[in-house]
Amino acid sequence: MFFKDIPAHENIKRRLRSLADTGKIPHALLFEGTPGVGKFAIARAFAQYIHCTGRGTYDEDSCGECPSCIQHSNMGHIDTIYVFPVLKTDSLTKPTSDDYLPEWVEYIRDRKYMDFDAWTKAIERDKKNPQPITYVNESAALLHKLSFASHGSKFKIVLWWLPEKMNIEAANKLLKLLEEPWEDTIFILVSDKPADILPPFASRLQKNRFRKLADAKVAQILEVEAR
Ligand SMILES: [Zn+2]
Repeated sequence: MFFKDIPAHENIKRRLRSLADTGKIPHALLFEGTPGVGKFAIARAFAQYIHCTGRGTYDEDSCGECPSCIQHSNMGHIDTIYVFPVLKTDSLTKPTSDDYLPEWVEYIRDRKYMDFDAWTKAIERDKKNPQPITYVNESAALLHKLSFASHGSKFKIVLWWLPEKMNIEAANKLLKLLEEPWEDTIFILVSDKPADILPPFASRLQKNRFRKLADAKVAQILEVEAR
C-alpha cells in the first residue's frame, strides 16, 4: 500500500513521513475517525514507508521495489504483525488473529476502505457468535511474536485494527504490552470508535484524527477507483 493510493488526509501523511524521516516515531499511535476513510490503508502505507529500504529520506512514498516493499505488497512482510477482531466457533474456542490470517490477507489485499460488516461476513462460520472481537488469547500470541528480534528491519510494526473491539480481559492483558518499553516495536492502532477504547489504553497513544471526507473528495476517489 502506498500513501498515494489514498488521495486524502495530506496533512496526516506529511506528519507521518516527517516522523519517519526524522526518526521520531512514537512507540504507539492511534489513527481515529469515521469508518471507511482510509485510516487502515494509511497505517499500512506508513508501515511500508518505515520498512522501505529503497527510498531516499524525504521521498513522498515507498519505493515499491525493494525486498521490504515486495513483502508488503504480497501481504507477507515478516516484521509486520496484524491484530484484528475474530470469531469464536465450536472448533475454535480460543481464537487469535493468526487463526484467521488467510481470510484476513484475502480481505485486505486490495482494500483501501475497511468495513467491519464486510469483515464479519468474510469470516462468518456459524451464527453463534456473530460479533468478532479480540479475545484475551491475543495477548499471549502477540507477546510471543514481540519476544523475537525483528528479522532485519529496524522496527517490528503491529497494525491493530479496531482496538475498541476487545473484551475487558483482553484489554487488561494487552494494556501491559503497551506499557512495556519495546524499543524495536511500533504499535499503530486504528479505531472507528476511540471513545470505546479503555481510557488507560487510549492515554498511551499518540492521536491522529482523520477527518470525514468531503463529498467532493469522495466523488473524486470513486472516479479514480473506477478508472
Ligand atoms: Zn521500498
